[in-house]
Amino acid sequence: MYRSHNCGELRAADANKEVKLAGWVQKSRDKGFMIWVDLRDRYGITQLIFDEARTDATIMQQAKSLGREFVIQVTGTVIERESKNANIPTGDIEVLVTELSILNEAQVPPFTIEDETDGGEDIRMKYRYLDIRRNPVKNNLLFRHNVTQEVRNYLSSLDFCEVETPYLIKSTPEGARDFVVPSRMNPGQFYALPQSPQTFKQLLMVAGMDRYFQIVKCFRDEDLRADRQPEFTQIDCEMSFIEQEDILQVFEGLTRHLLKKIHDIDIDAFPRMTFDEAMRRFGNDKPDIRFGMEFGELNRVAQHKDFGIFNTAELVVGIAVPGAASYTRKQIDELIDWVKRPQIGASGMVYCKCESDGSFKSSVDKFFDQEDLKKWASATGAQTGDLILVLSGPAFKTRTQLSALRMELANRLGLRKPNEFSPLWVIDFPLLEWDEETGRYHAMHHPFTSPKKEDIHLLDTDPGKVRANAYDLVLNGNEIGGGSIRIHDKETQALMFKHLGFTEEQAQEQFGFLMNAFQYGAPPHGGLAFGLDRLTAILGGQETIRDFIAFPKNNAGRDVMIDAPAAIDSAQLEELNIDLRASK
Ligand code: ASP
Repeated sequence: MYRSHNCGELRAADANKEVKLAGWVQKSRDKGFMIWVDLRDRYGITQLIFDEARTDATIMQQAKSLGREFVIQVTGTVIERESKNANIPTGDIEVLVTELSILNEAQVPPFTIEDETDGGEDIRMKYRYLDIRRNPVKNNLLFRHNVTQEVRNYLSSLDFCEVETPYLIKSTPEGARDFVVPSRMNPGQFYALPQSPQTFKQLLMVAGMDRYFQIVKCFRDEDLRADRQPEFTQIDCEMSFIEQEDILQVFEGLTRHLLKKIHDIDIDAFPRMTFDEAMRRFGNDKPDIRFGMEFGELNRVAQHKDFGIFNTAELVVGIAVPGAASYTRKQIDELIDWVKRPQIGASGMVYCKCESDGSFKSSVDKFFDQEDLKKWASATGAQTGDLILVLSGPAFKTRTQLSALRMELANRLGLRKPNEFSPLWVIDFPLLEWDEETGRYHAMHHPFTSPKKEDIHLLDTDPGKVRANAYDLVLNGNEIGGGSIRIHDKETQALMFKHLGFTEEQAQEQFGFLMNAFQYGAPPHGGLAFGLDRLTAILGGQETIRDFIAFPKNNAGRDVMIDAPAAIDSAQLEELNIDLRASK
């Protein structure tokens, strides 16, 4: 037996017990006649004591040789400490060591294994197994385990069955590029890693599994944006014989269950907002509603004066920044520069201060009088002391820019409180989205999403107007889940493929298996998927998903610990029928 207890469990009540512990040397203090060692494992830290007067001389000698992160095993007696440490749960006791064995020595770690480490991101990723020894990372992994466990409990209690679906599949066009895997046994052919188990979960519904879930890895070969991972985890779900309302209820229930179990927070029915409303009020289909600064549209009150920029704009829209009327010219200029950065792309910004005496001071006083500006204030909900910021231009673009500004200001003003949770559903997403690059419509969610019955007739005349039975669950300004009611008949699915620009042959070749399945009794069905990494990070009060993944990839998609991706040798290439020279 290596240990009778772990390093986090001994208390004063255990005094005089003989115990065996094993773990890593966090640190040691050598006073010559007395040596203290902090012994650490996943569960905590226990102080060991070696005392010349009470400890065997050879053990004393051995104890002096212990370095940081040595793996040791000790036998000893629990004694109550004279000076107690209230900061750790085992702080009332220490273990007087009678036997010590060094199980493994360790090199000096490249960074300190402390909550606040001296190691930068790169070095910690390279030695992630040492990073995970640190409390913040270890605790995040334990936290993730709890979230996952609660998800499994909740869904299992509602008869959801976890089914594994294959990782080696065929490309499905879901927006991103596929990672492909060459097949040795089928020369010249490739598997693709799933971007999600979408078609399989639908086939499980045709198969009569009724309620499916899976905590599953998904793979998307996207250009890497900050805090995206090429492989990530979904809580993937599908249900039969349901309508949108049933799905919203079940997964609102799941989210509520998690918030209750993890934070002991009760949340009422989640607000619902249509996509159009979210865009109008927040310029964003995943609005953070923990704070105000809602959009005020100013077309009616700001156009038809002599200010040409507004008059020619499709949309004039503003927000009221609380308490910011006191901003200096320099601070406002900085904000103007911020929205003019290429990432945001505004061409300029108008402002109006709501002064404490009830008057208004704007950057366009030449064109607008006090009465006009008062209307701006009422449209944006601005109070005395607020600063109104106004952008104008094409509607979608302008909303997106103002949304970015709203989020930036909320971050700066500390309005995005990590321990406050405001979920909502965004519903009625458009079915199709125009893609400038390819000059055609794409499925906004995916090609299996059903259009709203009442909008189907618009498919031929005004495809951009067709709404889908699609929904997203948004939490604190992040999309944490999304899904839809699916098409479940061959004809509608074929119609959808046609509108997405597939020829009949292409549709048959890529999705024949699904359309064939629909001919064998497909039940009405729908579902959704949560992004587990992000959900966990947000529930953990953080926004970086990397901190909740044991072995994440870096921003260039590399695993710097194992050094992947990497070249493979020519024999392997040959076996796979891949000739790198041929492609050059
Ligand atoms: N497969 C979808 C996704 O990955 C989720 C769903 O529609 O259920 O976003």
